[in-house]
Amino acid sequence: MESTLTARDRVGVQDFVLLENYTSEAAFIENLRRRFGENLIYTYIGSVLVSVNPNKDLEIYSKAHMERYRGVSFYEISPHIYAVSDNTYRAMRTERRDQCILISGESGAGKTEASKKILQYYATTCPVADRMSTLRDCLLQSNPVLEAFGNAKTLHNDNSSRFGKYMDVQFDFRGAPIGGHILNYLLEKSRVVHQNHGERNFHIFYQLLEGGEQDLLSKLGLERNAQKYQYLVKGCCPRVSSINDKNDWRTVRKALTVIGFHEDEDLLNIIASVLHLGNTQFGEGKNGENQITTEPQLKYLSKLLGVDGAALREALTHKKITAKGEEMISPLSFEQAVAARDALAKAVYGRAFTWLVVKINQSLAFKDDVYNSSKGSSSVIGLLDIYGFEVFQHNSFEQFCINYCNEKLQQLFIELTLKSEQEEYEAEGITWEPVKYFDNKIICDLVEEKHKGLISILDEECLRPGEPSDISFLEKLEDTLGGHAHFVTHKLANAKTRKAVSREEFKLIHYAGEVNYSVNGFLDKNKDLLYRNLKEFDMSPLCNHTPWRFDEALVRHQVKYLGLMENLRVRRAGFAYRRHYETFLQRYKSLCPGTWPNWQGRLADGVATLVQHLGYKPEEYKLGKTKIFIRFPKTLFSTEDSLEA
Ligand code: ATP
Ligand code: MG
Repeated sequence: MESTLTARDRVGVQDFVLLENYTSEAAFIENLRRRFGENLIYTYIGSVLVSVNPNKDLEIYSKAHMERYRGVSFYEISPHIYAVSDNTYRAMRTERRDQCILISGESGAGKTEASKKILQYYATTCPVADRMSTLRDCLLQSNPVLEAFGNAKTLHNDNSSRFGKYMDVQFDFRGAPIGGHILNYLLEKSRVVHQNHGERNFHIFYQLLEGGEQDLLSKLGLERNAQKYQYLVKGCCPRVSSINDKNDWRTVRKALTVIGFHEDEDLLNIIASVLHLGNTQFGEGKNGENQITTEPQLKYLSKLLGVDGAALREALTHKKITAKGEEMISPLSFEQAVAARDALAKAVYGRAFTWLVVKINQSLAFKDDVYNSSKGSSSVIGLLDIYGFEVFQHNSFEQFCINYCNEKLQQLFIELTLKSEQEEYEAEGITWEPVKYFDNKIICDLVEEKHKGLISILDEECLRPGEPSDISFLEKLEDTLGGHAHFVTHKLANAKTRKAVSREEFKLIHYAGEVNYSVNGFLDKNKDLLYRNLKEFDMSPLCNHTPWRFDEALVRHQVKYLGLMENLRVRRAGFAYRRHYETFLQRYKSLCPGTWPNWQGRLADGVATLVQHLGYKPEEYKLGKTKIFIRFPKTLFSTEDSLEA
């Protein structure tokens, strides 16, 4: 009976701390579902924003929406990524302290989209510093470029980030953006030479082949057919219905020009050379030696990379070693040559990516000579968007690195939300009963602890003389980490673990679930080896995408592993709302005759008069040294979720 439903029944609560049955996961998920059904994808847990990916475009990101969130308090308007953006911005300005927004979630959850919305918010709503309007364009255009070179279609996400990104936006004393800087982490270079079934290489390859002008392709020696390139066919899906490579190519070319790549020739030469490397084949020569059998590729490679053809031929089929102080050249076997070729392709692509980031940073750099009135008084907002936690049927070194990053991020999240909360209560003299939560430090230590952690053991094994192998690495892990509650191998497996572990795998029990990692290739991938003579060249399921579907299993999984219930318990045990006395009185004094038009006494007394008048019981609020804390701001701030729809 629609007419008898209250708005709250229909749209749920906009902050989980208002949920009556706050310890129930089912109630938590039901609240998300109700809101999702009303096009409300955002919900708070205090200052944490929970977002459910709608997988369809919603009309909630217009300029008018941005305007509504400018200068408005968190609890006075419905939850939105713009509210987080705006509050962060104002905190930076009023507190004059650097701020950071962390975005976490599994692959495909919507992290990169969220980070783009935040940037758009700043680009649209912040004042523009004199002569700095181009910076705004550079900030926005850095995204399509980085995504073209650093994102790819995976089984989880058609536009999955395959690198981590930390971006700083620098603001002057008036709050105008004046510079930016990007730090990139750990590009998944192995994708350049291999993709799992159903996945693609980095977008740029397909964009170039689909969108590149005929003249350009001829110059690069390329054909307009991705099927012809060995490095593009491993995943068997060169075309993806949700991706328009041709259009994206135009966007990327334009973006490259904005960030200052007027001559993008070198960059495209490198992209093309990677494709030629992939098609470079080896075979047996007259004397049984291993040689290159694809001459045209070699010709294009030497032209595009600007290196001597004979030297390149030698480098791809021989290695230079130093033994007892003497330099020697020895031929590579077929397998070694293929590995050397792939290593070169990965290195070339990796360096091109790094160079791209350097160029973007040059375009974003705060130019002191042009604009220096804000010297010494600028602050930054940092935005962290890394690749999300991922589990495939087959997981290797890449997933290990990605999931370890997420493990660290989760640790930071726990520290920031739970620790800072406790510190504030302490500073304000509020009594506080700590809430127990799972601290994933134990898993981080398992991976990173000096001498005993997984990474140390891997590094040691890579450097060990003799014949270290992936299997000897696994045995070392068993010897050292055998007793650890979060580490399992075939030998160590017991009834506690759900999924079987094969003889070539180890299982880590992560905060976000159990993952089996195959050790095959761990040593080589960790060494990221490039033979010396190659180095010497100087070369500068498909289920996580249905639109508007509330996938309960997926939601439940993430609610559990992101620790949202624990987060809610902490928030609930504490106080959802807090404001400095002065701000609070100023804003709400008109609601109470005793405080209107001006309160003359102590600020804390005025606030007490006001909240008592509003009917808050003593247990529902606390007066700290400088702030009022309210458990659930339910009556004071009845907001209009309909704003979002
Ligand atoms: P990964 O860890 O793989 O990089 P991610 O969390 O960054 O994943 P996104 O690339 O941001 O995921 O999102 C995946 C897709 O979901 C987007 O390409 C887009 O189609 C859709 N999507 C995400 N957020 C939204 C949103 N707010 N509105 C509409 N669609 C969205
Ligand atoms: Mg992403």
